[in-house]
Amino acid sequence: MTEAKDFDGRVVLVTGASRGIGYATAIEAARRGAHVVAVARTVGGLEELDDDIQALGGSATLVPLDLADFGGIDRLGASVFERWGRLDALIGNAGLLGTLTPVAHIAPKEFDQVYAVNVAANYRLIRAFDLPLRQSDAGRALFISSGVGRNNRQYWGLYASTKSALEVLVKTFALENAAGTVKANVANPGPIRTAMRAKAMPGEDPDTLKPPAALAPKLVDMVSPAFAQTAMYYNFPTDELTPM
Ligand code: NDP
Repeated sequence: MTEAKDFDGRVVLVTGASRGIGYATAIEAARRGAHVVAVARTVGGLEELDDDIQALGGSATLVPLDLADFGGIDRLGASVFERWGRLDALIGNAGLLGTLTPVAHIAPKEFDQVYAVNVAANYRLIRAFDLPLRQSDAGRALFISSGVGRNNRQYWGLYASTKSALEVLVKTFALENAAGTVKANVANPGPIRTAMRAKAMPGEDPDTLKPPAALAPKLVDMVSPAFAQTAMYYNFPTDELTPM
């Protein structure tokens, strides 16, 4: 049986590709034929990803970058445009949990760090890749949110508020591009077996959770040319797709 290669020749950028959901998503995109631009700080994780992608016969460009370096995001946008003249898919997956604590106890420095990575960096990615995405025949942007962005609960205020803010930015960007070729959507993974989940729920048995590889095909589907919907919210635990 020949495998589907619906991403042959397409360029897909994944942030937070050094581990967890981003790693599995990068692998899935490469497996389906994409050239993956993999962004994260941890060089070891990116190199491991590169090895795995090469073993599949795929290719990747590794970008060791701290997403809080907004100038770096601008430079990345320019170099992707220079090299390929377009970007076919932007997957804004990188995120930080921060400390789970009452709002009044959030440390100012941590507030700024979590907002920088979860919100500002994604705005800067949209800004830097707006033109490259519009140069694609089917530019797709997908950002990873969290259920707590909607189902608010005590101690999760910092992380949850960044995900709410992210959703508003993505929905607005989607509406602004409704008449064009660029589509933008959000996905909520639900509980997935990663380092972040283990930090959030230290007492939980990780074996009870779905692995990132279970979610990755759904995320890659949402950045395929065939996925023409925009301003949609995909909820992995229920497999429901609803307007934002
Ligand atoms: P992990 O902590 O396993 O991975 C996070 C990724 O983000 C890493 O690759 C990390 O790379 C990258 N990252 C973090 N900070 C930066 C930074 N400053 N610059 C560049 N990259 C950065 O988390 P998950 O895989 O679990 O999470 C992925 C996304 O899914 C996040 O947005 C998270 O909020 C969301 N999510 C996850 C859930 C879960 O259950 N796992 C549930 C709901 C939402 P590095 O450290 O190498 O820079």
